[in-house]
Amino acid sequence: MTPLAALLADRIREGGPITVADYMAECLLHPMHGYYSNRDPFGAAGDFTTAPEISQMFGELVGLALAQAWADQGAPARFTLAELGPGRGTLMADALRATRSVPGFHAAAQVVLVEASPVLRARQRDKLAPHPVIWADTAADLPDQPLFLVANEFFDALPIHQYQCAPDGWRERLVGLRDGALAFGLSERLFKAPVLPAFRDAGPGDVVEDSPASRQVILQVLHRLTRFGGLAYVVDYGGWRSRGDTLQALRAHAFDDPLAHPGQADLTAHVDFEALCCGQPHAYTTQGVFLLRLGIEARAARLAQGLTGAALESHLAALRRLTDAREMGSLFKVLALTGAGSPPPPGFDPA
Ligand code: SAH
Repeated sequence: MTPLAALLADRIREGGPITVADYMAECLLHPMHGYYSNRDPFGAAGDFTTAPEISQMFGELVGLALAQAWADQGAPARFTLAELGPGRGTLMADALRATRSVPGFHAAAQVVLVEASPVLRARQRDKLAPHPVIWADTAADLPDQPLFLVANEFFDALPIHQYQCAPDGWRERLVGLRDGALAFGLSERLFKAPVLPAFRDAGPGDVVEDSPASRQVILQVLHRLTRFGGLAYVVDYGGWRSRGDTLQALRAHAFDDPLAHPGQADLTAHVDFEALCCGQPHAYTTQGVFLLRLGIEARAARLAQGLTGAALESHLAALRRLTDAREMGSLFKVLALTGAGSPPPPGFDPA
């Protein structure tokens, strides 16, 4: 039993079963034993890898796309360049390097990183030095000014509730104890199920997920986009109205039982982009299409010029991994949010 499993078992013995959202929040961000609170989970020695860690091209193209959008919106003299959940800081470092020669962009940008983990904040500080950066605990702390933002594999880490449709109504999936071990169960019948598109056409046995924590963050972002202008790119795996139980645990690059190692495995859920965009103006495509439209092939060819042998092979493999439909290209989606009347976001123009 992990130390966190023992703490959760005590809590459940005293107060009864907890929601999947509470379970996820404790597993990921418990101050002592949370997965993100005390480790750097990325890379070959970690539990998983992400697009910016696979190739510098990802952060470079996202950075240039945000700079293009900033120019298209009249190059505001002061704006927030923000990232939600920046991990090791690699995406932002690549974005800042790629945009160095965009006239006025760095001078106008105030870089704000929304990050919960003290360990990862330290990694970000080292990676981005000497560039001035400030950290925020939540999206509610983002400054009131135009906002150009990216979030890659952030929303999949935010807690979800899971509901199951039974013949007599909806029940919430809970984490309780069976024979002393953590086990899933169901609540009593709920008086009221959340009112969301995914709930409307569900039938008996279906599991539907809801992430109020994600909506709360997006509303903070939308509020600024609407009032001050800007653009937000959300990149993650998931779909439009995703359905079913998508809670998953990854440990040392392999799937794990989500209840087996609380605090020691990464826990995620697919992002439901329809619920996330809250009916606001948006554009939506796959990661593969987005990166191709932003010109990843030209950038890849340019970088390939200096490479031979194994280095060239791994560069080409990274390009495939990011864009190929059999790899991350179609599992990962990109949602672009703007205020009403903003010019179309880069990466979504007709090809
Ligand atoms: N974007 C990075 C890291 C993705 S992992 C990449 O693509 O490599 C998720 C990141 O979100 C980590 O930095 C984690 O510490 C952070 N995070 C998770 N939950 C958070 C929360 N509730 N508030 C702020 N940051 C959070």
